[in-house]
Amino acid sequence: MRISPPRAARLLPTLIALLLLAACRPAVVTTAPVIAEVAPTAAPVASRPPVISTGAPPSPTPPPTATNTVAPTPEPEPTATATIVPSPTPNRDIPCSQRLADDGLLTVVTLTYGLSRDFEPRGLVPLAGYLPDDVTLGYPTELRHVAVGPLVRMIADMQAAGLRPFVISGYRSYSAQAIAREKWAEKEPDRVNILSAPPGFSEHQLGTVVDFGSPELPEIVGQEDVEFHTYFYKTSEGFWLADNAHRYGFTLSYPFEAIDVTGFFWEPWHYRYVGVEMATFLHEAGVSLTAHQLATEPPPCIPDKP
Ligand SMILES: [Zn+2]
Repeated sequence: MRISPPRAARLLPTLIALLLLAACRPAVVTTAPVIAEVAPTAAPVASRPPVISTGAPPSPTPPPTATNTVAPTPEPEPTATATIVPSPTPNRDIPCSQRLADDGLLTVVTLTYGLSRDFEPRGLVPLAGYLPDDVTLGYPTELRHVAVGPLVRMIADMQAAGLRPFVISGYRSYSAQAIAREKWAEKEPDRVNILSAPPGFSEHQLGTVVDFGSPELPEIVGQEDVEFHTYFYKTSEGFWLADNAHRYGFTLSYPFEAIDVTGFFWEPWHYRYVGVEMATFLHEAGVSLTAHQLATEPPPCIPDKP
């Protein structure tokens, strides 16, 4: 319909005002929905698995480069059902001070890349509330809550299959690791470097690692009080874990002949919770978490020396 000149004149101020409003609109209003869709649809490299969202609370001064691509979720504690987003192309030049705080699920810990003396994971719970004494052997073991549910399910399935797994060790603080190291140095000085890491260089400080035991081990090794031995891989529990642990989100941290990458000898009893997605990827690719992370993510930050 045609607008008569007097009506057009009356509408003119309104039209100008609308045009001005459109010009002044902050760009973020129109681009935000587009940015929000970029992260989930960004094409991941075929050989790389999705990265589990950190779940870390938003920082009051978030790093400018990360806010639009890795949106932190508000939950204080990540869960096994955390949002999965493809990892952005890693920027290996981001300084440590500008990186998003991560939840430790994929943190690299080796004899080169250690943890701070002050690092203590969130959400530690005593396993005694979730597992019976015949599994924990009565040890006061703690683990991060995020890994407890998957661990309990895995052990229930192992028991249903006729196995008798032990949980010998879980979270160890920096100071507890120092004590453990001394204990092993006294008990087995020739094997101390195989059995125990120096404080600050153990994945157990992350609170997501479990050392498993088997009632078959003493007979296989020929030593009554043995708890950890490479021959764990020969036990029924060791076989089962090697084949199935990834389905519950656990991965073998120190596989056979990975010492050059991890700094640790083969530990067939030492499993770390990384989530089902990552654990399955690592299992199928036949690669350790450490090797994968060092090849694809920014170099780990080395804490200040205490
Ligand atoms: Zn261990």
